[in-house]
Amino acid sequence: MKICIRTSHECYRNDIGDIVRLFYGEYALVPEGGDALLIHEQANGKDSFTERVRLIYGTRTEEETLTGATALNALEEKRREKRAIKQACYAIFKRVSGRKPAWGSLTGIRPTRLFYRALEEGRSFSGAEEYLIETYDLSRDKAQLLTEIVRMQQPYYKRHSDAFDLYVGIPFCTSRCSYCSFSSGVIGDGKLVEPYLESLQKEIEACSRMAGEAGLHLAVGYMGGGTPSSLSTGQLDRLLTCIEHHFPDLEEWTIEAGRPDTLDDEKLRMLRSHPVTRISINPQTMNDVTLQRIGRLHTVQDTVRVFESARRRGFDNINMDVIAALPGETEEMFSHTLNEIRQMGPESLTVHTLAIKRSSKLHEQGYSQTTGRIVENMVDAGRQCAYDMGMQAYYLYRQKYMADNLENVGYCLPDKVCRYNIDNMEEIRSVLALGAGSISKGLLQVDERILRVPNLSNIRQYIERIDEMIERKRQMFDALTKESKGDIKRDHIG
Ligand code: SF4
Repeated sequence: MKICIRTSHECYRNDIGDIVRLFYGEYALVPEGGDALLIHEQANGKDSFTERVRLIYGTRTEEETLTGATALNALEEKRREKRAIKQACYAIFKRVSGRKPAWGSLTGIRPTRLFYRALEEGRSFSGAEEYLIETYDLSRDKAQLLTEIVRMQQPYYKRHSDAFDLYVGIPFCTSRCSYCSFSSGVIGDGKLVEPYLESLQKEIEACSRMAGEAGLHLAVGYMGGGTPSSLSTGQLDRLLTCIEHHFPDLEEWTIEAGRPDTLDDEKLRMLRSHPVTRISINPQTMNDVTLQRIGRLHTVQDTVRVFESARRRGFDNINMDVIAALPGETEEMFSHTLNEIRQMGPESLTVHTLAIKRSSKLHEQGYSQTTGRIVENMVDAGRQCAYDMGMQAYYLYRQKYMADNLENVGYCLPDKVCRYNIDNMEEIRSVLALGAGSISKGLLQVDERILRVPNLSNIRQYIERIDEMIERKRQMFDALTKESKGDIKRDHIG
């Protein structure tokens, strides 16, 4: 169904749109015409507000009207109105479509936040579960998944003010996956790599100095991208040496070695010579036909070879990523992938659901996403596979454009939690993010706001304007220091 929205309050257009997309997909909204017109009107009384929503399609009209009490402050008022509008829209579309989404009316990317808020309000774990089911129409299964995740996070869930996590981005890949929406460049002739590493090294040196001066401690590191292992053995060795020299206290150090075609025994041996504690080898699928279809340059055999080689080299914390609902994949093909992974036995498994963003090749090609029970079954099978290997879910996030609005879930063995993933998803620790396209986040104590400091995504611009990227970090450290004096006004630098 194509739906056009009219609202008396434009500030709620996106919230209404989120509910439309929940039922009819990412591209259901049209500015004019369409199959249905959704009209939202708000009326404010002295002590109450009324949200009236009508859906007019063909000769039929569906209507919901919700009222609420006004709040003492504007922020809370807006929160109440927004929730009433979304619930009214949700009730209408649930009736009209006959569908009940697994995440109910929840559209946010971090559902665990609501669970934590429910706990903070004094509920028990089971009370928080019931609250989410009643308030947001969450399925019991998803509510239980949240309970499992929040329980796993408990030993690590603490807002830190004196520590940062380190993120280093390598924005190069050997080819572009058809679902990729990142700003990574294909490494090609590699001419940009050396200038990029030079700039990155400059940023590392400057930021380590500033972090030291600010008295901040960095204990958790993550190198992502792109594909860090697309650098040559010598380049990666040099970069790791530089990082470890400037940030010597990393207790946890993950390197995304995503593409099996970028790893060989020599590179694995080099990685082992550094204090790398966790690597990620990402098959995405264990079906060669799909690997070709999605533009990855490796085979299933490469994945198995690299995994075995990493084990021989002594890596005892390996993550593997898989994606449910890849183009052309059936439930049987996804089961085959999971069976192969079960046999390999990694320490963690991340089950993604395919998201087709506008900047991906699949979107350009007009690829129509697999939806419905098939995707849900795949996601359930991924969860079962993780349980079979003795893992538990420990972090989760949702993205826009995901098949059936489902989720990405990280599972791991109980003693193999990646703290960076928890910190990052729950935003409980500041992040010093270096390299093109990375976004640093400074956690402010006031109102728990977050100061966002992005680096330029374009690789050439990042190289040319590295001094400006460093200056942005200086402003971030300054702002965090000044915050204690009540002098911080912004939540974005750059
Ligand atoms: S490996 Fe990741 S970053 Fe690189 S092209 Fe594929 S999806 Fe994009």
